[in-house]
Amino acid sequence: MFGQFWSGVLKPIHQLLAKGGSNCLACGKTISICVPGYSELCLPCYSSIPWITEPRCHICGRHVGCPDCSRKGGVPRSFVMNRSSVAYNSTMRQWLAQYKYRGHEGYSLVLARMMGRAMEQMKQELKPQGIKLDGVVFVPLSEERWRERGFNQAEELAKGAALAGRRAGGRLPLLNLLMRSRHTDKQSFKSRSERLINMQGVFQTLPDATEQLGRVILGTRRTGLDHEAVIRLLLVDDVYTTGSTINACAAVLQNICGQLGFSGEIYSLTWARS
Ligand SMILES: [Zn+2]
Ligand SMILES: [Zn+2]
Repeated sequence: MFGQFWSGVLKPIHQLLAKGGSNCLACGKTISICVPGYSELCLPCYSSIPWITEPRCHICGRHVGCPDCSRKGGVPRSFVMNRSSVAYNSTMRQWLAQYKYRGHEGYSLVLARMMGRAMEQMKQELKPQGIKLDGVVFVPLSEERWRERGFNQAEELAKGAALAGRRAGGRLPLLNLLMRSRHTDKQSFKSRSERLINMQGVFQTLPDATEQLGRVILGTRRTGLDHEAVIRLLLVDDVYTTGSTINACAAVLQNICGQLGFSGEIYSLTWARS
């Protein structure tokens, strides 16, 4: 078990040492100063990461003032809060595009580690409230997109979060509970009501979702880690823009928890907040 874990961690280090004087993943220049934990990046590129350390909005994790969450009425929110690793600026947009659309795999580990950092931060934030998460879930791709891309970036990011989210019983379980019936057009160009209609029925439960989650909950509750009648899931996606995707998935996840006789609390962790 540990062997597998360490080989996963050490492999990139070995690769780096072997290459020697390697080039920065983002700008291509020779790396002269190694940044601990981010050996793929040069110092200027690492320094340009717009980390969100203090969210201004404590609901959606936005780094700037947020009118959305204080708005009265509208769609009920099915998630407790969102936190994001970075602000979605033009540099982060480029990095994600390199990874997501051009299949530049080198970004996979960097982005997953950035997610891990956000996870650590979230754990610190939830700890004083005694909140422990039961598992990590990710926003699914449509089958069409999955076939095109060959991977789901949200799932890869969720692996980073699950690894950093270790609790007493081991790493946080990564669960595949949702499916996406169709791909949705870019949400940011739509009005609030259009976004809502566009999202209706997009996300559904995978056939074995209840069984999968049931097994995990049985495990944690039986080992005495948790006696609560609440299931707390961390939902992962790449970018939080309007929150409509996260909200739609969270509603479905709450249903799955309900089927097991628990109430569901969904926490969202996204790589970037726009
Ligand atoms: Zn660079
Ligand atoms: Zn907000």
